[in-house]
Parts: sequence; structure tokens; C-alpha cells
Amino acid sequence: MTETTPFVIDDPAHADSVPPCALPGSPLAGMLAGINACVHCGFCLQACPTYLTLEDENESPRGRIFLMRSLLEGTVEPGDASVQAHIDRCLGCRACETACPSGVPYGHLLEATRATLREVRPTPFVARMILRVFAQPMLLRIVMFASRLLAATPIPTVLSRTDGRLGFAMAMLASAGSPLERAGYSTPAGGVRGKVAVLLGCVMEGLFTDTNRATERVLRVNGYETVDAPGQGCCGALHAHAGDLETARALARRNIVAFEKSGADLIAVNSAGCGAMMKDYQHLLHEDAEWGERAVAVAARVRDVSELLVAAGPVPGGPLPLSVTYDAPCHLMHAQRVVTQPLAVLAAIPQLKLTPLRDSEQCCGSAGIYNLIEPATSDAVLIPKLECIAESGAPYVATGNPGCLMQIGAGLLRSGSSARAIHPVDLLDASYAGMAEPGAPATQ
Ligand code: SF4
Ligand code: SF4
Repeated sequence: MTETTPFVIDDPAHADSVPPCALPGSPLAGMLAGINACVHCGFCLQACPTYLTLEDENESPRGRIFLMRSLLEGTVEPGDASVQAHIDRCLGCRACETACPSGVPYGHLLEATRATLREVRPTPFVARMILRVFAQPMLLRIVMFASRLLAATPIPTVLSRTDGRLGFAMAMLASAGSPLERAGYSTPAGGVRGKVAVLLGCVMEGLFTDTNRATERVLRVNGYETVDAPGQGCCGALHAHAGDLETARALARRNIVAFEKSGADLIAVNSAGCGAMMKDYQHLLHEDAEWGERAVAVAARVRDVSELLVAAGPVPGGPLPLSVTYDAPCHLMHAQRVVTQPLAVLAAIPQLKLTPLRDSEQCCGSAGIYNLIEPATSDAVLIPKLECIAESGAPYVATGNPGCLMQIGAGLLRSGSSARAIHPVDLLDASYAGMAEPGAPATQ
């Protein structure tokens, strides 16, 4: 790796000694302090799934940050296909942030780089179509309705055995939803822990509807009053990660209005990627004079559902004698730094046996729509994850993110494994469903 001196833009003291910025006014130019924070130590390399898989410095955090700097210095062009490919192949998992001793805000650098590259090249067709659907509520409802109809037939399972992306997409659809059947139960009214609005999300409400209802139930059992937030929609994470920051900001503003009107004290999120995005609304809108402060206020109320459950105990449920291993979603572990809470939720379920998962902090290769637009690298990252799951011997893999649930679920299905991916909330809900009156004070 070539050593570089800190690159300074618009600093009169260094006007004679530094090159002018090649991309003035670009989103990337606004992130120069973050680029300069990298001291090239390489501590992040062994945490990076694309570096470990592809064994190329250009596919590492340090290599990509060097490319970002080179873009600003003008030594590489935004139209350079190889630069675009290295940036495209980043999963955005942010494991490098956890490993970095210098506090490099890699996730923000990546979004700004993709936004900058997006100005000189069209977004690939498949990605463009997916992002358009997720930005339009009516279109999204139609697509999710059609997906649910298809998922209710044997077609996805049959086609999941075919080669290529169609087979993988069908396997994702076949593995959506909760694998556990459970009886309904009544939940306490009111709530002493305050009002909570649940982010319904797009994939969660579209394909994991039961998990959303389970989320509301377990929150009520744990003393929260659930309230609706009409008008909420997609959090904007997919768009931000693809560099479409304007659409991400528009979606964030819509959610800010909806959650302000809801009167909720807290916002519960059961999708790690969405939670990370909503907690970051303040960065997304920090240059917006009208929305900046409102974004800060809403972001401060966002919690992963496991954080809320652990704050309340959680209330113990009935016995659930299952063997479960836990895979940490990257956007929960690395982006939100929520590490122990999901494990504490699982540990609170009587008779549930929690089996360790080797490399549980490593990405599964899902990364939003990455598995559909970078299939080769996604598959290569998924293989070791499936091996670790097989090694654990557990028939259930708990993970709190729809992308991970479908990626791991699809991989298990296509590999012939009988193991199933499941949201931790579904396990807690099944535990409560086995009780006569969840949330009632224990009898002495
Ligand atoms: S976000 Fe993940 S894939 Fe991208 S550079 Fe960082 S560790 Fe590697
Ligand atoms: S660990 Fe941080 S400072 Fe070191 S090379 Fe990686 S990003 Fe740069």
C-alpha cells in the first residue's frame, strides 16, 4: 500500500503543497475528514469479507479508501470501470468500522462514494428497478402482494433447485416468513414503559407479516403500549447504500412526519438494516436546515426491538425446547453496536438451547440487494456461513434482519440442509404462546 500524506481541500495554509480537489462539491469531497482519518494500519483487513474471499487489496477497506482518495486527487477517474467494480463489490457490512482504531466512518464514506459515482454512470437496470419499487408505496404493495401469493404455492420451492439467480431468488421467497407455527394469545392492555411505534418496513411487512405482529405482541407483554404510525414507509436504507441519497432523504422525511404524528416515545425496529438507517437519519439530513433537528429527535427514539425487550427483562415465557444458534446481522453488530441484547432475549426463553456459531460476526453476503446484483461474491461469502451453521448442528439459526433471514434461508434450502432461519422475536413469541397468560405477574 502506497503511503499518502493527508489530502487537504480549501485550506489556504496548504494551497501551494496539495493538489486541487478533482471532484469539488461532490458528496465524496464532503467526507474528506473521514478519508484522512485512515492511517493505513490494515487492522480492518482481516475483518473484511470481500478481502478474505477475493484476496485483493482493492477489495479491502484500506484499498477502497485509497481509491476514494485517488478519486479526489484526480489520479483515477469516476468513470474508471475497475474503480466502480471495487466500490460496487463492497458489502457495506461495516465490519471494518468495528475493527478500525482510528474511527474511520467507512459506511458514510461508501455512501458518499457511491453517490459520487452515480453522477457519472447510470445505476444498473436490476438495481434501478428494485429501488424504484421500494420508493413507491403502491407499487411496493402490489409487488409484495404478488410475492405472498407466489410464496403460498409450491412454485418457489420447486424453482429454488434451478441454477442461477432465479433459483436463488425463489429460494429466498420460499424461506421468507416464520418457520414456527404458533397459537395466538391475548396481550396486556396499556403499558407502563411508554408508547412504542413499530417500523413496519417494506420486506418485513410484505413477507414477514407474522413477525411484525409477533413484535407488537412481545412488546406489549413486556410492558410497552404499541401505537400505529400511519404514513410510514421504506426507511431508505437500500437507496442510501446504492448512493441514491436524494430518494433516501425523501423517504426519511416521510417517516419523520409519520413517527412525529404517532406520539410514540420510542420506535421499535426488528430489521437491523432499517434500524441502522433510522438511527443515522441525523447524518442523512445534517445539511438540511428544515429537517436536521427533526431527524436528530426521531433518530434518538429508534431502538432495535431486542434493546427494548432487554430493558424490560424480558418477561420470561413458556418452555421452548429447541436448539438454536445465533448469527449477528452486520447492521446490528457493526452499525448499531447491538451485540448482547439478541442473545439475552434468546437466553430468556426457558429450555431453549443456545449453540455457539463460529464467525457469527461475519457477513452472510446478503447486504440489501447485493445478493441479486453481485451474485458471485455474495455466494462466495455465504459458503463459509453455511459451513459454520452445519458445524453448529442447530436446526434453527436466529437472526434479526430480513435480508439475512432470506439469504441464509435460501442457502440452507439450496444446500439441502433441514435447518431454518428464524427471527429471535418469533422464538420469544412462540415461548409466550405456550403460556396461559403472558405478561401476567408470576404466582407465588
Ligand atoms: S463494509 Fe464490509 S465489505 Fe466493505 S470494506 Fe468494510 S468490511 Fe469490507
Ligand atoms: S483499520 Fe481504519 S485506519 Fe486502519 S487501514 Fe483500516 S480503515 Fe484505515
